[in-house]
Amino acid sequence: MARIIGVINAKGGVGKTTTASNLGAYLSAMGKYVLLVDLDPQANATSALDVHLADDHLNLYHALVDGQEPEAIIRKSRLMGFDILPAASSLAGAGVELVGVDERESRLKKVLDKIRTNYDYIIIDSPPSLGLLTINGLVASEGLVIPVQCEYFALEGLGQLLQTIELVRKSLNPQLKIYGVLLTMFDRRNTLSRQVANEVEKNFPGPVFETIIPRCVSLAEAPSYGKTVFQFDPGSKGAKAYHQLAREILNLI
Ligand code: ATP
Ligand code: MG
Repeated sequence: MARIIGVINAKGGVGKTTTASNLGAYLSAMGKYVLLVDLDPQANATSALDVHLADDHLNLYHALVDGQEPEAIIRKSRLMGFDILPAASSLAGAGVELVGVDERESRLKKVLDKIRTNYDYIIIDSPPSLGLLTINGLVASEGLVIPVQCEYFALEGLGQLLQTIELVRKSLNPQLKIYGVLLTMFDRRNTLSRQVANEVEKNFPGPVFETIIPRCVSLAEAPSYGKTVFQFDPGSKGAKAYHQLAREILNLI
């Protein structure tokens, strides 16, 4: 029975996709069966794993809206034991088309229930919004990893995210946990980075991962080659950090 991890932050560009894809790569390298679910119509996680679909090609949209079997949509990545439930831009339509549909917030949970026994970990990469797709991610998840960029306005929007998590707990997913905030793009030479890290550790009302993800060029370059950092530059400090995060997650859940 897979553990289901949502990677979420309504703020854009904080490292959600980088975290979801590289955490998945390391968990699979450690012998776990992993499914990455691309819940973002930008389809960045899909292309990071070198899967490229036409806009209307069978993707998560068809599972959420048309009731297509997820097995027919899932693709293998180049890494053993690491699959992807891909997105394409048509997924954006699901956010609109599901409004007014019964149990619209639980569609993803229903889809994942069908395949949960096939994996050890299911990781959901969320879009940068608090719309219906993201709510589906929150309802389907057991626990959350919240990447926070060590930059100006890092904490912006976190209050609203926490309120949304609270609402989901009160209605559809009372057991939803926060596994932790993950500090990303940390630059130890930069005072601001250290200030943000201290501020988060002091003020965030929940756990913060011990692992801190440094700013690392290889993490930014790997997706353009359709590779995770594990494949692209396994000796880099970014790779080591995601390896450490995977170990931390394995010990936690
Ligand atoms: P979106 O909200 O648009 O989905 P996101 O939260 O998924 O964005 P990413 O796509 O993971 O964020 O990262 C944003 C950009 O920063 C990307 O170009 C990515 O390659 C780069 N990046 C992410 N993490 C790091 C890092 N630790 N070091 C250097 N670059 C990084
Ligand atoms: Mg993303």
